[in-house]
Amino acid sequence: MRVIEAAAEMRAYIKEEKKAGRRIGLVPTMGYLHDGHRSLIEKAASQNDTVIVSVFVNPTQFGAGEDLETYPRDLERDKETAEAGGAKVIFHPPVGEMYPKGYKTYVNVEEITGILCGKSRPTHFRGVTTVVSKLFNIVSPDRAYFGLKDAQQLAVICRMVEDMNFDIEIVPCPIVRESDGLAMSSRNTYLSVEERRQALSLGRGLAAARKLYEGGEKSIEKLTGIIRNEIDAMPMSEIDYIEAVEFPSLEPVVSAGRGTLIALAVKFGNTRLIDNIILD
Ligand code: AMP
Repeated sequence: MRVIEAAAEMRAYIKEEKKAGRRIGLVPTMGYLHDGHRSLIEKAASQNDTVIVSVFVNPTQFGAGEDLETYPRDLERDKETAEAGGAKVIFHPPVGEMYPKGYKTYVNVEEITGILCGKSRPTHFRGVTTVVSKLFNIVSPDRAYFGLKDAQQLAVICRMVEDMNFDIEIVPCPIVRESDGLAMSSRNTYLSVEERRQALSLGRGLAAARKLYEGGEKSIEKLTGIIRNEIDAMPMSEIDYIEAVEFPSLEPVVSAGRGTLIALAVKFGNTRLIDNIILD
């Protein structure tokens, strides 16, 4: 597995790949890869000739007091996972390569970045869209892969790609869960045994809401209410939000229907988890 750290070397590599007529798939990640990431890499490998996985813990998407310093890292394991998933190269730039001294430029998608996760993380999506724009410019992929685990992020990226005329196909990938229903996340490693047990209420609540909807319930209040009850029953939970919006526009919804995104963020101790469902 080749690891490239410099943007210029990455560009040179891509130039050769494109000259050889190869299609490029990009999977942007913050590393500590799990089977959720792996599903994106495998999908990319099935649709492209060359898959690049970026592993970069992006400081600009972390707010003050968040987990930038403690975010889990294991490049050796990431190399094995990325290779097993079918990737050829890991792009792993140092922070100074992405944000050199004097750096001043940010990409900002308006309005839809101020709701849901954007309310409690007001600078988060600006960091995401900035780093993803930089990765798009460095790698020039034909396709880029994003998980529905971060549904708001995916919607924001799609908006940015359209608004900024990036000639890149965004491929959404389904949420991968542990066998007990917990959505896979690098941050799950922070959870104590008891916090993890109580965090199963997220998947349980969302599954109950889906069942209620499939039984004919259209009321947003009732659908989010059943999730809230399930999570509130867990003493260690602290709900940030449970909300329903239209996907991918993130416009408000009055009653649930096809394409309604029910998204939530909940803290267990210091660990903030997100999860969601999209109704069909
Ligand atoms: P991260 O490393 O957490 O920034 O995630 C990198 C990419 O992997 C994002 O597009 C995420 O949405 C996606 N991802 C993370 N966890 C999962 C999961 N459990 N299922 C599907 N995609 C995921």
